Amino acid sequence: MYNPKSAKAEEFINNQEILDSIKYVESNKNNIELINKIIEKAREKKGLSHREAAVLLMCNNEEKNNEIFELAKNIKEDFYGNRIVLFAPLYLSNYCINGCVYCPYHAQNKHIPRKKMTQEEIKKEVIALQDMGHKRLAIESGEDPINNPIEYILESIKTIYSIKHKNGDIRRVNVNIAATTVENYKKLHEAGIGTYILFQETYNKEKYERLHPTGPKHNYNYHTEAMDRAMQAGIDDVGLGVLFGLENYLYEFIGILMHAEHLEAVFGVGPHTISVPRIRKADDIDPSSFENGIDDETFKKIVAVIRIAVPYTGMIVSTRENKDVRKEVLALGVSQISGGSKTSVGGYYKPEAEDEDSRQFEVNDNRTLDEIVNWLMELGYLPSFCTACYRSGRTGERFMSICKEQQIHNFCQPNAIMTLKEYLEDYASEQTKQIGNKAIEKELKKLPENSQKEIVLSNLEKIHEGSRNFTF
Ligand code: SF4
Repeated sequence: MYNPKSAKAEEFINNQEILDSIKYVESNKNNIELINKIIEKAREKKGLSHREAAVLLMCNNEEKNNEIFELAKNIKEDFYGNRIVLFAPLYLSNYCINGCVYCPYHAQNKHIPRKKMTQEEIKKEVIALQDMGHKRLAIESGEDPINNPIEYILESIKTIYSIKHKNGDIRRVNVNIAATTVENYKKLHEAGIGTYILFQETYNKEKYERLHPTGPKHNYNYHTEAMDRAMQAGIDDVGLGVLFGLENYLYEFIGILMHAEHLEAVFGVGPHTISVPRIRKADDIDPSSFENGIDDETFKKIVAVIRIAVPYTGMIVSTRENKDVRKEVLALGVSQISGGSKTSVGGYYKPEAEDEDSRQFEVNDNRTLDEIVNWLMELGYLPSFCTACYRSGRTGERFMSICKEQQIHNFCQPNAIMTLKEYLEDYASEQTKQIGNKAIEKELKKLPENSQKEIVLSNLEKIHEGSRNFTF
């Protein structure tokens, strides 16, 4: 029985409800009257239900699709302005006891080099990341209670936060590790993590069990209910995601929105972020062996309709996507991107030798962080290294209510300007610095003339003189 408030995975991600929604979409995807009604509702910018959003996703009327894309751009502008938040992944260990068939770290892969960073190596990685200009990391690790127990993850988080190299400072550590217990989530919460990220991979239980034939991750219910345990433990920013390509994309799209509805129904707050990775080539993984791959056009439509369906949820695209695709989805709804990423264990401070390749997937955007920051500004975006909300306690429900009221600009815009200024002073190339200072001038003109603007101007002066870390 479908019940978004249920604590049971199979009730809040109910297979029958997804199948019924797919049928509903099939019979309504050309129903212009209904599509118009849904678009009208979406214009209120309060989101859509999974069924309504699915109808828009599958609509193939060109005129209506243009309206959908325009609306997505408009919502993106309203909620996120021109800010794009930057982060980098940091792989701690690729030891893993699971058998995920789409990931080269699966336990049956006997030839990929297995690596686990020591705390000393983590320090070197973090210094390399700080020297690039990063302030926000997403740590990643395979599931292995012997090699990567929770104590190792906690110690690594502590190490990361402790390193202050020159003006460098990692201010937010998001964590992407396997589903775990409430007790362990409490420990992560106490360690001061930002978002807890866990990709569902696929919402289809039967498919999920086939794609995860061995290891603890095989347990669909335990995995799907992980966000509930994380939230019970006090982590109120959680990040959802599916790996597009594993299952029919409409099924996944409905599933992820049902998951968001479930979190909202039970905890009063939806996901902080949604990630939209597509399956990519890696060591022993060939994406063409998965029959549900999606093309760029479908991918863009998914991003646009997620933007419309959950306007207040950040959306993340990694370096799995190339520059051109990233450019398009930034306009349609993506609010965070990774930059200068390495997807191997220990790839930042020392490039890996070819026979040492431990990458989880091949990167399609190999540009440096400086090149990405430069490119974003050329496109009219404001790159942001802000981590203020989490450090000021604007998380979970508090963050969402500010976001839903469209008040988040009041914090984000000045914080983005100040953190960009820090980046320009400390890490940018001469050319990026020039473009960046002009971009800041332009952004300052948009700020209302009030006492907050005076503080921003004074802080920019102080940053230029060497002070750091100002936030609203
Ligand atoms: S996806 Fe995660 S759990 Fe699965 S094999 Fe890769 S690292 Fe292990």
